[in-house]
Amino acid sequence: MTETLTSTPTAPPRPPVPFLDLGAQTAEVEPEVRERWDRILRTSGFVLGPEVDRFESEFAAYSGARHAVGVGNGTDALEIGLQAAGIGAGDEVIVPANTFFATAEAVLRCGATLVPADVDDDYLLDPQDVAERLTPRTRAVVAVHLYGQMAPVARLREVVGPDVLLVEDAAQSQGAGRDGLRSGGAGDVAATSFYPGKNLGAFGDGGAILTSSDDIDQRARRLRNHGGVDRYEHLEVGTNSRLDALQAAVLSVKLTRLDAWNAQRSAAAARYGALLAEAFADVPELVAPRELPGATHVWHLYVVQVPDRPAVSAALSAAGIGHGIHYPAPVHLLPATAHLGLRPGIAPRAEAHAARILSLPMFPGITEAQQEHVVRALRTAVAGEAAPAAVIP
Ligand SMILES: *Cc1c(COP(=O)(O)O)cnc(C)c1O
Repeated sequence: MTETLTSTPTAPPRPPVPFLDLGAQTAEVEPEVRERWDRILRTSGFVLGPEVDRFESEFAAYSGARHAVGVGNGTDALEIGLQAAGIGAGDEVIVPANTFFATAEAVLRCGATLVPADVDDDYLLDPQDVAERLTPRTRAVVAVHLYGQMAPVARLREVVGPDVLLVEDAAQSQGAGRDGLRSGGAGDVAATSFYPGKNLGAFGDGGAILTSSDDIDQRARRLRNHGGVDRYEHLEVGTNSRLDALQAAVLSVKLTRLDAWNAQRSAAAARYGALLAEAFADVPELVAPRELPGATHVWHLYVVQVPDRPAVSAALSAAGIGHGIHYPAPVHLLPATAHLGLRPGIAPRAEAHAARILSLPMFPGITEAQQEHVVRALRTAVAGEAAPAAVIP
């Protein structure tokens, strides 16, 4: 390790850097959440009800959609959203090959046919590859706003035409925008997740469907509640997937801070960008992510590409640097999809990314010192040496 003139040869080990630290966020909202929870505890209205109605309106307005329907988690939001839009057996649904498995799982649970497509150099669904996979049976395309940056929704709409359903998987992108469109308000229907680690996270599981279609909204409200809105009304076979009041209260309080927290993520991403550009000027294999022109990236994850990832990952672990891989295999190369007979080679870029991507610590409130420690450790891990002291003291 390169030392500065002022440090001793045996500088104390630096504290570990967690991959995700929600402590500051939780502390910030705790007093307001407790007040709201006290009110809910006095009314015993725990499932759906006025807190959920209120959050649904706030979140719909925030996302630029006319309706939000709160459900149990993001995976259910995808499945119910697809079903509410009429997707089922015999329909082909195109999804990006590199996404969290839930995107593909929801398509398969609807009984539809999974059609993976390749992604671009920014990890987002490639409209050109989508164009090549369109058939007369294509009913929907799921644009995943992966890592917090919106997929090219406007371009995808041009490519698929007006009759194919444009679905957003907005689980990682609350607050993101692109070309004047907003995450969750850009497609025919969107699904998002309030898993605690997402940019807008609950204190447990939660999710929502977003749409500006009255028909999709009404059907989603039925499907989440045993096929009917009123008790013992069962117009069709639905399921039980409802947002609860305690989570809605947390989300409503957190929504007022979301833009500020996303701005902190954005500042941290800019800092990583500068630190990496200096420390890896001589290592072209280290690929940093970028914010596209016209886009507001909300940096759910900060994903770099590294050479020899197993060795780099082991070295980061030894240095106490939290990190992740999102995701280790594309959806068509998982044991769960083996029965579909999809082959390696159908999404070459996604397949190449899967072997090289590595997610660095990213959360609102990550400090400059923590980020410098991460980049220094990454430099040592990748190049076997620390960055020059002049670059990172
Ligand atoms: C988290 C996530 C989901 C699933 O959300 P859950 O609330 O965990 O069910 C779906 N898609 C993507 C891209 C996600 O990141």
